[in-house]
Amino acid sequence: MKSLYSRLPAVHRLLATAEVRAAIAVFGRQGATNACRAALDDLRTAIANDTVTGDNIDHQIEDLPQEIGHRLQAGMSQAYPEVINATGIILHTNLGRAPLPQPMPELLGSYLALEYDLDRGQRGQRLAPLQKRIAGVFEAEWAVMVNNNAAALVLILAGLASTREVIVSRSQLIEIGGSFRLPEVMAAAGAVVHEVGCTNRTHLRDYAAALSEQTAAILLVHQSNFRITGFTATPELADLAALAREHDVPLLVDQGSGNACDLSRWGLAQESTVSGLLRAGADLVCFSGDKLLGGPQAGIIVGRRRWVEPLGRHPLYRALRPDKTALVVMDRVLQAHQSGRLEQIPIFVLLATPVESLRRRARALGRRLRKAGVPARGLATRCALGGGTTPDETMPSYGLAIDGGQRLADGLRRCALPVVARIEEDRVILDLRTVFPRQDRALETAITSAWDPALQ
Ligand SMILES: *Cc1c(COP(=O)(O)O)cnc(C)c1O
Repeated sequence: MKSLYSRLPAVHRLLATAEVRAAIAVFGRQGATNACRAALDDLRTAIANDTVTGDNIDHQIEDLPQEIGHRLQAGMSQAYPEVINATGIILHTNLGRAPLPQPMPELLGSYLALEYDLDRGQRGQRLAPLQKRIAGVFEAEWAVMVNNNAAALVLILAGLASTREVIVSRSQLIEIGGSFRLPEVMAAAGAVVHEVGCTNRTHLRDYAAALSEQTAAILLVHQSNFRITGFTATPELADLAALAREHDVPLLVDQGSGNACDLSRWGLAQESTVSGLLRAGADLVCFSGDKLLGGPQAGIIVGRRRWVEPLGRHPLYRALRPDKTALVVMDRVLQAHQSGRLEQIPIFVLLATPVESLRRRARALGRRLRKAGVPARGLATRCALGGGTTPDETMPSYGLAIDGGQRLADGLRRCALPVVARIEEDRVILDLRTVFPRQDRALETAITSAWDPALQ
C-alpha cells in the first residue's frame, strides 16, 4: 500500500503539466497550487479507503491535471449564473424579480456623494437626495427607502406601533414566498396583532369596534398572491381613512407591488396605484422596489410627513438602510418613471412587446430548431406578471412547445446558459415574452444541445 502513495506525483510536477499551466494563467498560481494539494489529498484518502488500488491508480494519476482544471473552474464559476427566463413570469422572485436597466451606472465604480453635502463640505444625509424624487413620483409628502418591503413593514411597525395594537383583517394575514408571514413579521416588530372580521368578509364596524386606547394603527395588506372571491366584503379605503383619522391613528397600507402605472395599457386589469391609495386617504404606503416599479430590491415607504419622517431617524433605520448600489439604481429607475420613459426599464419593455413580434421570433427560432432536428412548434401562450402582483391575471404571449417533458426541461436547466421553462402536459413550453431578443441565439443553442432524440 505504501508504494501506492509513493506513486503520487509531487505538486511541482503537476504544476508543470500543460493543463495546469493553462489553469495557472487563468486562476493564478496560488489557487492552482491549492487545487493540486486538494486533489492529491483526495487521492490519498481514496487509497486509504481502498477505492483507489494498484489496478486503477495509473488512470487516476493520468486524470489529475484535468481534474485540477475542473476544480478550479467550478470554484470560479459565478455564484449567481445568468439564466434565460422562459417561464413567462415577468417578476419571478426566484430569478431575481425585475431585471435592471443596463448598463449599470458607471459612477458605482467611482466615489460618489452618498452622504456628503458638497455645498458645505460636510457629512450629509444618505437618503435626503433621493427622498424628494421618490415623494415626487408617488405624489407623497415624504418618503423613506430601506432594504426590502419586509424591512419597510418592520420599520413602520417598530416606529409607530411597538408594544401596541395594530388592527388587521383576517383576510389579509398573508404568507408570501420566502418566509414572509405577516403575523410573524408583525410580532417580530413588536406590534400586537388585533385580528378582525372573517376570512371572506370584514366590515367597517369590525374595525370601529376594535379601536381602543391600545390601538397604534390600522393595517391593510394587499392579498398579493391569492384572491378571495364570492361572498366577500371589505370597507372602502376612504371610510377606513376617516375612521382612522377620527381616532388619530395612522392608516397603513402594505401595497406590495409598488404599482405606479395604469396596468390597463398592457391589457391587464387596473390595480390600485400607490398614489391612488394616498389620495384615497392612506397615511403610509409601503411596497417593494423590485416588483412593478422595475427597480432594485428595496422597500419604500411613502405618505404623510408626520408619520414617515420620524422613521428615517429611528435607530432601526441604520440597520435597514439600503446600500449605494440600490440607491443609485433606484434613482435611475425613478428618473425614468418621472420622465415617462418606461422603455428604459426592462420589465416595461417585456410588457410592451407586441404578441406579433413574439410570434415572429418564435417562427424564426422554430424554423432553425426544426432544421437541427428538434420538433419545436409555435404556440400562443399566456404569461403573468408574477411577484404576487396580479395572481389571477394573465396576458397574451407567444412561445414554443417541444415534446420532451421533464427530461428536456432538466437538460435545459443544465446548459451553459441555463434555461428555465415550464412543463404542460409533458411538453416543454418556452414563453418568449420573458426572453430578451439578445438571448434568442443562446436559447436555440441550449435547446439543440439539450435535445436528445434517443430519449424521446
Ligand atoms: C412582495 C410583498 C412583500 C414582501 O416584499 P419584499 O420586498 O420581498 O420584502 C410584502 N407584502 C406584500 C403585500 C407583498 O406583495
